[in-house]
Amino acid sequence: MTIDRAKPEDWYSLKTVGDDVTYIGEPFIEEFYRCNIWHVRGRDGDMLVDSGMGVVSLTEWVPLVTERSVQAVASHTHFDHIGCHHEFENRVCHRCEADLLAAPTRKNTLADPYVTDEIFTKLPPLPYASTTYAVKAAPATRIVEDGDVIDLGDRHFEVIHTPGHSPGGIALWEKATGILFSGDIVYDGPLIEDTYHANAADYVRSMERLYDLPVRVVHGGHFASYGAERHREIIKNWLRERT
Ligand SMILES: [Zn+2]
Ligand SMILES: [Zn+2]
Repeated sequence: MTIDRAKPEDWYSLKTVGDDVTYIGEPFIEEFYRCNIWHVRGRDGDMLVDSGMGVVSLTEWVPLVTERSVQAVASHTHFDHIGCHHEFENRVCHRCEADLLAAPTRKNTLADPYVTDEIFTKLPPLPYASTTYAVKAAPATRIVEDGDVIDLGDRHFEVIHTPGHSPGGIALWEKATGILFSGDIVYDGPLIEDTYHANAADYVRSMERLYDLPVRVVHGGHFASYGAERHREIIKNWLRERT
């Protein structure tokens, strides 16, 4: 069976979610594999949290992301989160995954084994092929550690190192608004704990740390956003099964 190809202009969908945050999605990727891309507007510049699979240009088809200076942050370096990072001048990544962003392979980004035609409901435009799909190198221009701050002028996002799903996973925490961008360490769907560079003890520590944050809204790496009550429920249930 051949699957239809999507048109590039249809690849991304946008939705404003409040707090000057815009959700950018890739609707033709099956939900489980579909990364949430977050665009945050600040006074002096913008922040992009993750950049999708990179199968259609984000800067060409989503003008929102290039209107002003933007810091493209990688919550971590799996293929579904960093595919368009090479299109941005300012690229931010945690120290523990800087080598991956600089030299991505099909194996180290998990494109192999995850990327097949089956993850799409419509294939990306030609010349895309799942067998040769690969993420382009996008060396970090800023390497961050736990406690560092992404400064947008009037908005400040603290970097929280959240290893477990991957060694250099980070969450971004805006204390003033209670917004947490959590990446893949926690979201409201099946969590992945068995990647080649996952670490169970780190995962537990990261979850315990995030539990205590006074969040108002969590925008995760996958699936729908949620509030404080659901945040504690997800983490409490997860910890109960593992500790
Ligand atoms: Zn991931
Ligand atoms: Zn992911």
